[in-house]
Amino acid sequence: MNYLTHLECSLTHKQYAADQLIRVSDAGLPLLARYDLAKARAEIDRDALWQRPSNMWRYRELLPVRDPRFITTLGEGGKPVLPLPRLGQHLNLKQLFVKDEGQNPTGSFKAMGLSAAVSRALELGVDEFVIPTAGNAGGALAAYAARAGVKAHVYMPNDAPTINAVEVQMAGGDLHLVNGLINDAGREAAQGAAVGGWFDVSTLKEPYRLEGKKIMGYELAAAFNWRLPDVIIYPTGGGTGLIGMWKAFAEMGQLGWIDDQRPRMVAVQASGCAPVIKAFHAGAEATAPWENAATQAGGLRVPVAVGGRLMLQALRESGGTAVAVSDEHIMRAHKEWAYTEGMFVSLESAATLAALQILTDQKWIHSDERVVLFSTGSGLKIQVQQG
Ligand SMILES: *Cc1c(COP(=O)(O)O)cnc(C)c1O
Repeated sequence: MNYLTHLECSLTHKQYAADQLIRVSDAGLPLLARYDLAKARAEIDRDALWQRPSNMWRYRELLPVRDPRFITTLGEGGKPVLPLPRLGQHLNLKQLFVKDEGQNPTGSFKAMGLSAAVSRALELGVDEFVIPTAGNAGGALAAYAARAGVKAHVYMPNDAPTINAVEVQMAGGDLHLVNGLINDAGREAAQGAAVGGWFDVSTLKEPYRLEGKKIMGYELAAAFNWRLPDVIIYPTGGGTGLIGMWKAFAEMGQLGWIDDQRPRMVAVQASGCAPVIKAFHAGAEATAPWENAATQAGGLRVPVAVGGRLMLQALRESGGTAVAVSDEHIMRAHKEWAYTEGMFVSLESAATLAALQILTDQKWIHSDERVVLFSTGSGLKIQVQQG
């Protein structure tokens, strides 16, 4: 049912067979799924896809699952692009939009990545999963594992929002609270995986979460009638969304679905944990671990990024940039988005509005450009504080 041909090391381009359970390349780096796009170009009618249900699997030929019986879905994907006219007016932007991934099952776009990864792993024989998480990825894995009737082990910082622990436990996940950050959780998850024989679906340490998240790029193109916007502003943690969308644009180019115009990609991080921003402005090829990472935007509290090199490539090839924003600025933007447009987004999402305010001040964005903010999660998952 799909055009998947092989996997490829993101650095050395060494090829690997696709129909095997594999995590990273021999070089220890992310593997990218490759498809026969020439054949797909000849056979898929882009516009006929609109007759299918509006979810991520509308693009199933360009996703890794071969047998549809393994698709584990809760209706992820197909979430809207909405105009932001009132915020746009404040910022003197005529064409400002949000892609609202907060409407996904489990309240974040982690659902898309984990639907793809769980479905494909089930097809390859996995029946027990493990994940380290800042919070939302753990909730999503637990949900999809429950949906498939298999076991999930989740390693999460003990100061993650309570809702993330609750959603894992409600779904029957085996929750381990870790004294540390997501990279510490990663170490403990790897130990658990080694002992228990569980399949580890850490960010970019298996090839298919990226495939689910790339669909945001396909959906964005479709929403704009296959003319990509000028600027995309994305709240960056592990970077799967950014890397995935950049991959989607390349694929759609080869499919003949879009022309050569590409958006300038902007990575946003919190100033208390900004390894990508630092590496970008230093002209580095890869990111370095960030010491004492701290931000209230938990999804951005990712001090070590396996995909650092790929993110920096996407930012540079696109002519984009990287912006750090303070937690105070995130909090202000968060409220402003809610009272100006009626949208209660996650703090990570609010960081994109804060970055946009900085970029319009700097005149890096012009008033007639089409700009898309990514809301990656719902405000309903925030640790509630009064005031
Ligand atoms: C995980 C997460 C992010 C970061 O996403 P990446 O694609 O891994 O960079 C941003 N926002 C929210 C709400 C998240 O859960």
